[in-house]
Amino acid sequence: MILKNCKYIITQDKDRKILQDTDILVKDGKIVKIAKNIEQNNEEIHDFSSKLIMPGMINTHAHLPMTLFRGYSDDLGLHDWLQKMLAMEAKLTKEHVYWGTKLGLLEGIQFGTTTFADFYYFPYERAQAMKESGVNGFLDSTVHDMPGFFKTPTDAVNFSEKFIKDMLEEKYVTPIASAHSIYLCGKETIKRMKEISDKYNVLRRIHVSETEREVKKSLDQYKATPIEFLDELGWIDEKTMLVHANWITNQELRIVKKNNAKINHNPISNMKLAYGRAMPLRKMLDMDIIVSLATDGPTSNNNLDLFDDMKTSALMHKFEMNNPIGVKDQEIYDMANIQGAKALMVEDEIGSVEVGKNADFTAMGLNEAVFTPLNKHNNIISHIIYAASGSNVTDTIVKGKFLYKNKEFMTLNKDEIIKNVQRLMKV
Ligand SMILES: [Zn+2]
Repeated sequence: MILKNCKYIITQDKDRKILQDTDILVKDGKIVKIAKNIEQNNEEIHDFSSKLIMPGMINTHAHLPMTLFRGYSDDLGLHDWLQKMLAMEAKLTKEHVYWGTKLGLLEGIQFGTTTFADFYYFPYERAQAMKESGVNGFLDSTVHDMPGFFKTPTDAVNFSEKFIKDMLEEKYVTPIASAHSIYLCGKETIKRMKEISDKYNVLRRIHVSETEREVKKSLDQYKATPIEFLDELGWIDEKTMLVHANWITNQELRIVKKNNAKINHNPISNMKLAYGRAMPLRKMLDMDIIVSLATDGPTSNNNLDLFDDMKTSALMHKFEMNNPIGVKDQEIYDMANIQGAKALMVEDEIGSVEVGKNADFTAMGLNEAVFTPLNKHNNIISHIIYAASGSNVTDTIVKGKFLYKNKEFMTLNKDEIIKNVQRLMKV
């Protein structure tokens, strides 16, 4: 297929080139040519002359089925919020999680997300929903020591290992080894998840250094800050995604940098749960630490619109640093695509619009008030971060397949999903 006359192509290549009035030729799900006036040889033609194309958006941390609890738990801090959520989650069935994942995907796809790294329970149902939707799925069976879906922490760990093994064979999603956090997992569970991630060579991740309370508890219990404690267990390396890291210390930043670990930034959720401190993004970027963007779950955000998170991240850090040039637009934008690909260790496949990469795109219509005017006094990256939102997305494409085309869902049945969620959540 040819995406014809794309008004703008934000490539996110190493020079951050933005092309105008250019075609993209896609074959077998890959980008094979980017040039003006590509000759047609019986390919399908799609007119993009009034749209911008960007790399598909990458959400590196979500809990998609928590769409089911949207609005259930506002105005609570993390630890009270978590108690309430754990009680609600104990009632979930496979059917809830399947439809909750689909609801999350419906929203994410509508807002231009092509890749989701999801963190939750009932992994087979989530994997099935992801397969049916056509997105790139990275997911786990989250492990913690609290009573709930499993009789013992060992059962939870073993189930997580089984899922990883199965998905490495099935190959339609990419499995991850996740320990929930050091406040819900004991040392043994954390150690086991590290062993599993090494055994199968998959990414590992954990919520960490979210609140001051977590850091104090870690110092009391382990005589180390959370990331120091994880480092002692050999947890921190290039396969590690550290979610949040708001209370990270300078010493912990050095550990992250030395071991090439990655950080997932969830600005809206962090502000809504009142973590009391923004992650030191400027320091992280100056140290060349990979920071990727994420929404977190829809019970602490409460949507899955990464455009909102880009804007909030920019505002959060400029405000906290008391410095309007503390973070640059391009740095914020990078977190939603190329840095996300690096965090998931798939930058050879996704994260930019370049020949040889997967044809994963997010497109937006430019004939809109929020993109006007566009001239030498402003720029399109600024409009995307500060003026546009997920509602301006017109098309979402993964491996050359339209999942959302001119604002119509192509792989998911919106009415069926909403009807089923309403039915399941009516009490
Ligand atoms: Zn989370």
